[in-house]
Amino acid sequence: MKTIPYGHQWIDEVDIKEVVKVLRSDWITQGPKIQEFEDALGKYTGTKYAVVVSSGTAALHIACLTAGIKESDEVITSPLTFVASANCVLYCGGKPIFADIQEDTFNISPIEIEKLITQKTKAIIPVHFAGHSCDMKRIKQIARKNKLLIIEDAAHALGAKYRNSKVGSCRYSDMTILSFHPVKHITTGEGGAVLTNNKKLYKKLLILRNHGITKEKYLDKPDGDWYYEMQLLGFNYRLTDIQAALGLSQLTKLDKFVKRRREIAAVYNQVFRGNDYFDLPIEHEGVYSSYHLYPVRLKKRFLAAKKDIFSKLRENGVGVQAHYRPVYRQPYYQQLAYLPGLCPQAEKFYRSEISLPLYPLMSNKDINFVVNKINKVLKKF
Ligand SMILES: *Cc1c(COP(=O)(O)O)cnc(C)c1O
Repeated sequence: MKTIPYGHQWIDEVDIKEVVKVLRSDWITQGPKIQEFEDALGKYTGTKYAVVVSSGTAALHIACLTAGIKESDEVITSPLTFVASANCVLYCGGKPIFADIQEDTFNISPIEIEKLITQKTKAIIPVHFAGHSCDMKRIKQIARKNKLLIIEDAAHALGAKYRNSKVGSCRYSDMTILSFHPVKHITTGEGGAVLTNNKKLYKKLLILRNHGITKEKYLDKPDGDWYYEMQLLGFNYRLTDIQAALGLSQLTKLDKFVKRRREIAAVYNQVFRGNDYFDLPIEHEGVYSSYHLYPVRLKKRFLAAKKDIFSKLRENGVGVQAHYRPVYRQPYYQQLAYLPGLCPQAEKFYRSEISLPLYPLMSNKDINFVVNKINKVLKKF
């Protein structure tokens, strides 16, 4: 039976041609496509520097290391995110602190952030849930007052805008990370990037991506032309030129992709407005969401049946997904002694949330299929 998934990449013949060109060239990694892709990302988002890496998770890891996160440092992030947004803090020996979400946007609440700041707090990782920007103006004020760094997790939000600037511009942050996983807005298979306007941070990110190695000559008397030095304990988090070529080609279509996502969201908004089953996501004034997700929340009387509704929808070919079980409710985090009930709004959200299928390649017929099946399934509950 036909199933409409919750997300899907859109790769066309032009993308494939660009990848094949690289495969026929001398450089399949560490070649010219990397810088080209980085320049294009910087230009698109309005950021000075971009460092592309092998995944969004790798981007978060080197961003945290570059922010200087180390043992016993605290970093405040959202519980309503993919585990990588918090894991990156653990990689550095730091402690993720979860600030509860706002009820309307499901993004991290500035009020909750402020309550959790201690002497140990070093950074904030706001996550633009579903592609709707966080209240970055307020978060930046809090960070400035408390001398904290901000790393935006924009894995959901490439192509989104906030107060007339692109998400990723780092106007309200020190660094922004992106992911190019196939369900995200553009894909390189696996891949990610860190954006920044700060040259010092940029240089450190470059070094950490490549084993901590630099070819800049810091010594007075380098041994010879072969000279390089390892200054930090870095990683091999490089993206290949094959992937960068795909990313470059995808990036030219990003605005079209986001426009189509917004069209689909507008159809959902229209056909489900005032329905009896679930509440719809909203978009704040001054925000242009990239609609990575279309999260609906079941009304109270359907909560007990969420599991059944979910599986019935899937049985009927509607590939719904749930985003997310609050990170600290994962077994690994429970064992680190994060208590259930820590973030009541995020837990409440998780009990009711279902993400409807949404990706640019969805046809109008697909949308109709999804809408009809949803109405048919929910009528029976
Ligand atoms: C996808 C995602 C990541 C991780 O990106 P990968 O490229 O899969 O490593 C991080 N944060 C959020 C919010 C994500 O959705």
